[in-house]
Amino acid sequence: MGTKKRLLPVVERGSCVACGTCQNVCPRGAITILRGLYATVDPAHCVGCGMCSRECPAEVIRMEVHT
Ligand code: SF4
Ligand code: SF4
Repeated sequence: MGTKKRLLPVVERGSCVACGTCQNVCPRGAITILRGLYATVDPAHCVGCGMCSRECPAEVIRMEVHT
């Protein structure tokens, strides 16, 4: 009871090419390219819209259900 499910993006870091597309399309500024190597998501700011996942040209962001 009281558990809220939400969708959060999970980045397959090893395959991220750090292009910055996800960072640019995120309406909440929730994505940072860490050390220029891979994308990371701040769950505190993410609203689970899935834009990053849809727009990633390398298709390395999948949306997962978190409880
Ligand atoms: S759009 Fe995809 S490949 Fe580009 S930085 Fe984001 S996760 Fe990495
Ligand atoms: S799901 Fe939406 S809000 Fe969350 S990181 Fe991706 S683009 Fe940003």
